[in-house]
Amino acid sequence: MIKGYQTQILDIYEKIRSKNSEELRSRKKELAEKLPEVLDIQREIGKLCVKITLSVINNIENRDSYLDEIKESITDLKIKKSELLVENGYPIDYLEEKFECNKCNDTGFIGTKKCQCYKKKLVTLYYKNSDLNNVLLRENFNTFNYSVFSNRKVNDKPLTPRKNMEDISAKALYYIETFNSKSDNLFFYGEPGTGKTFLTHCIAKELLNKGFFVLYRTAENLFKDLREIRFNNTPNLENLILNCDLLIIDDLGTEQMSNFSITELFNLLNTKLLTNKKMLVNTNFSLDELMSTYTDRITSRLLGNFTLFNFYNDDDIRVKINLNKMKNQ
Ligand SMILES: [Zn+2]
Repeated sequence: MIKGYQTQILDIYEKIRSKNSEELRSRKKELAEKLPEVLDIQREIGKLCVKITLSVINNIENRDSYLDEIKESITDLKIKKSELLVENGYPIDYLEEKFECNKCNDTGFIGTKKCQCYKKKLVTLYYKNSDLNNVLLRENFNTFNYSVFSNRKVNDKPLTPRKNMEDISAKALYYIETFNSKSDNLFFYGEPGTGKTFLTHCIAKELLNKGFFVLYRTAENLFKDLREIRFNNTPNLENLILNCDLLIIDDLGTEQMSNFSITELFNLLNTKLLTNKKMLVNTNFSLDELMSTYTDRITSRLLGNFTLFNFYNDDDIRVKINLNKMKNQ
């Protein structure tokens, strides 16, 4: 789905620009009928602008005073045009092209840099037909219900599951609030059904609402992407994974393990950490399982560069049923 996104976005800009030109054409057509003098003036201004351009090419005597004279005429004509428009009840910029984004004039780029509006289009496009879009409508901070977490202490945990969850949520909210100014990475671990994916969805939803580009991949899909990048040379996909505002890797450990996946995971973590690009990883593994599954190089990066959050709950089956109910609300 994320392959070929750039072509699609450029296509969107192309459509916006042709809509802009079409609207300008129809405004001109209207004025041609109702206020043709304005268009005459506009044409006159156009001719004078051509004269300025030609004067650069041709060697004209007294070029400075010649140019001053033309510029003065253009200013007079512009004033006359504005007056005519306003007197007849038209906005002063009625003959100017209108852009949805005045920063990039609907090209998506300011010089070689992507405009802010490009990212918004990317987010919309990326999530338009995704399942995640529907999931995020159901699973967000508004539907989060702490009462599905037990208020009884379990094993040797210092906090009750509910207090632990409230604590983690508060930190997640702070993470969202300070997202722009910090480069922290989050690591959620714990048994299945303890709210990791739910909270991950909450965070994704809030950051997307704030206009950040969150790339959400299950570990399995991420490794498919990495294989695609390595063997089919897809620079757009690679750029997306490396440069998104937050890469979420859901369910680390469910991917098919191979030498390839282990090397690629290490390379990915390393590159993202070196370039200060943020990640959120969640896994059903305990820390012991994590260390016995992945190489030391990987676990040291995960444990050393991520803030760790342990999710847990009472094993009571009713709690799990409640958590499922919360998901299906
Ligand atoms: Zn723009």
